[in-house]
Amino acid sequence: MTTEEHARWNALEVREPGQVPAVTPLAWQVAKLTDHADRLMNNALPDTFPYEVERGTAGDALAVLALRESIRRDVEHGRGTRVHEALLLGASWREVAAALNVETGEARELLRTWAQGQRNLWQRNEAEGRRPFGLDADAYAAVLALVEWDDEAPAPAAARVEERHQDDTEPVKESTRRYAEELRANPGKASADGHTGWECSAGASLIAEAMTPGPGSLGTMHGVIYVCPGHQADAETLISTTGCIPEVRDAPPRHRWDPWPCGHVTAFGPQKGPKWLTAPLPDAS
Ligand SMILES: [Zn+2]
Repeated sequence: MTTEEHARWNALEVREPGQVPAVTPLAWQVAKLTDHADRLMNNALPDTFPYEVERGTAGDALAVLALRESIRRDVEHGRGTRVHEALLLGASWREVAAALNVETGEARELLRTWAQGQRNLWQRNEAEGRRPFGLDADAYAAVLALVEWDDEAPAPAAARVEERHQDDTEPVKESTRRYAEELRANPGKASADGHTGWECSAGASLIAEAMTPGPGSLGTMHGVIYVCPGHQADAETLISTTGCIPEVRDAPPRHRWDPWPCGHVTAFGPQKGPKWLTAPLPDAS
């Protein structure tokens, strides 16, 4: 979230939950809600109150309703993702249910509903020819397997983060491979993403981040190359030639089932597009 986005948010008049832009941080929504609610509280002050205060209007009351609804939806929407995450990290259904203060059956139903929604999202995207987002058939099956898992034991070791190994990443899915192929054929043109041009069919179990020292203790990330262990050194070399410092780490756990192909590039920040990364490559000019 940039300063500019924050300024736009502060200026935005919200009267319906649909007017809140997607991925607006909860903290921003709460801050705006508090401003409106504070004015409404001032309505309780007597007319004789000696200081000048802003009184709440119907607009403030509507904004409070709309923002509360938006926050409620965001919080609810995050439940499935968080349940999934907890299970992947080794929590048992018993623990997840206790955290939600429900029976395990209800917690399972919550994850099942979430997975169905994510599956529908993927299928809708695919049907509309967009880059699929959500759960593909295999990932969906993996979540359903979690739903059926025992109440007391942690989730199956194979699905859990701390027991993953670089060499047991699954093969790249067909839809993901096609997308990467398109990128490789049209470097820097097909979309905001790019490809190093490597011919490699491995699923990327690692992420090579292109970093520069940040203003504080945290660095600034300018882009990532999704990479297999065999191409790790190449990715590090490539990032170094762009003047950044390569930092390689394991790809997120979700990538174990649905890995990006090795060589996929995503660039961020002031350097627009992935060309700054792919340009130094002899075969990707
Ligand atoms: Zn590779």
